[in-house]
Amino acid sequence: MNRIYMDNAATTATAPEVLEAMLPYFGQVYGNPSSIHSTGRDARKAVDAARKQVAAAIGAQPNEIYFTAGGTESDNWAIKGTAFAKKNKGNHIITSAVEHHAVLHTCAWLEKQGFEVTYLPVDKYGRVSVEDVKNAITDKTILITIMAANNEIGTLQPIAEIGKLAKEHGILFHTDAVQAIGAVKIDVNEMNIDMLSMSGHKFHGPKGIGVLYVRKGVRLDQLIAGGAQERGQRAGTENLPAIVGIGKAIELATQNLDSNAARLTALRDKLIDGILAAIPDTRLNGHRTERLPNNVNVSIRFIEGEALLLRLDLKGIAASSGSACTSGSLDPSHVLLAIGLPHEIAHGSLRLSLGTETTEEEVDYVLAELPQIVKQLREMSCLTAETSDLGADCPFMK
Ligand SMILES: *Cc1c(COP(=O)(O)O)cnc(C)c1O
Repeated sequence: MNRIYMDNAATTATAPEVLEAMLPYFGQVYGNPSSIHSTGRDARKAVDAARKQVAAAIGAQPNEIYFTAGGTESDNWAIKGTAFAKKNKGNHIITSAVEHHAVLHTCAWLEKQGFEVTYLPVDKYGRVSVEDVKNAITDKTILITIMAANNEIGTLQPIAEIGKLAKEHGILFHTDAVQAIGAVKIDVNEMNIDMLSMSGHKFHGPKGIGVLYVRKGVRLDQLIAGGAQERGQRAGTENLPAIVGIGKAIELATQNLDSNAARLTALRDKLIDGILAAIPDTRLNGHRTERLPNNVNVSIRFIEGEALLLRLDLKGIAASSGSACTSGSLDPSHVLLAIGLPHEIAHGSLRLSLGTETTEEEVDYVLAELPQIVKQLREMSCLTAETSDLGADCPFMK
């Protein structure tokens, strides 16, 4: 059976060009970029080239790009690094309730160290209000960290406006752009972004490699101490093959950004319209247009998300209910709760995230299979309009 992969928000397939670019660096080109000899210098050249590729994709300078072990490390470094570097200026951080756990759990840890964190609410589409950010600023605020695009419901945040606001107040602005890179255009200067996190495996690059962009002049405390790699800011011998891979992947993603986004947006909308039309008691989560080109997230009433995922898997369709990190736990996703969904409706959610290799035939196949699976599950379900506390005319399904 053909496998249909619609879980690109969890991870993406490594692009063949990326794999090809990486292969020599697992073999012949094995030098340590810190070595003086030519074996080392060959490795150094590859790291420098990748740094240029990453910088070019976001309008940065190569010396503002730091390689890390992934999006999680980049988020930790940006937030902890700012907190400790600026602790004499203030101890207040502004973030949102819908951030990835790499941001939320880092902020929670900082609260235990005596920092104060404001978790801004979002509207029913998952959007942060710029006015709320402004009102949360105090003379102790040292950092605003708001994601560019949400990994569960795909909502895009007004990061250019937030960046402008942060700049006017002299406060550093970090954005977790892990889902946005390769999907929407990001320019760190136009958007007044001081720090930006990305992750290779979310745009058809390898896993275990990320980048933190740090604007020239911004000083962060170190997260990883040791050798002098990454201009003394992030220690540890460079992950050479993965660095080459993320460079190639971001080059491919940005070269084809407009055409990919247009194609995926059309497929996304076909999926959304098809699901809402074919399955009664279904709602779209997130914003209709201010959303990632590849993200579909729906709540389907009277079913259990996990059961749905297993039935889809039997039909060869890989999807997710919420985020990979929350499945396996009984608590519904913090993002779905933050947009105001009751537990019952949050539990029946489905995320289909498309990728560059997704075809229209695959979308049609999902649209043919999904309504049947939902119908079967609902026939077996003990959840019905009669048993539900929310009643037949549930306001959250509108
Ligand atoms: C995947 C993801 C991360 C974590 O990145 P890793 O490279 O897997 O550590 C952080 N933030 C967002 C929004 C993500 O989607």
